[in-house]
Amino acid sequence: MDHIKSNTATKSHTTGGRSTTNNLATLLTAVHKDHPAIELVQGDHFHWSPAKNRIMYTDVSHNDVPEVTLLHELAHALLHHSTFTTDYELLLMEVEAWEKALTLGKKYKVAITDEYVQNCLDTYRDWLYMRSTCPSCGSNSLQESSKTYRCFNCQTTWSVSSSRLCRPYRKSVTRN
Ligand SMILES: [Zn+2]
Ligand SMILES: [Zn+2]
Repeated sequence: MDHIKSNTATKSHTTGGRSTTNNLATLLTAVHKDHPAIELVQGDHFHWSPAKNRIMYTDVSHNDVPEVTLLHELAHALLHHSTFTTDYELLLMEVEAWEKALTLGKKYKVAITDEYVQNCLDTYRDWLYMRSTCPSCGSNSLQESSKTYRCFNCQTTWSVSSSRLCRPYRKSVTRN
């Protein structure tokens, strides 16, 4: 991987007049020009919809680097990410999307720090860890289906919600 080093980071567009960071509007124009088939629609959050070939974006959010998030969603789009069966597959797609986003960051002159990427991936790793930990004995377990895990150690089965980054809803289904 060819990561952009930290500290050249997300604040570059606020420091002085010499800016290499695009603002969101400029970036949207450039992305649309390069990828006219991908629909860019303003909404209330960032989202890539493979079925519609559409990226939803927002400029008003808690996200202080919308340009970075836009490139992340664009990466999913260009990698044709669509369905996944397991949480682990989703994590792999996230890793792949961030690698691609770093390349896109260079192309569109948007600084993306390694630290930022690792923080995002850590969120997914924590999420995966929580979902895969047996509620009965604490063993790390394998996913059985898109919404079910089963513990190899104590045979407990539990379901997980399909939503990606919401707090996982875990319910013990069977218990031995
Ligand atoms: Zn993603
Ligand atoms: Zn267990």
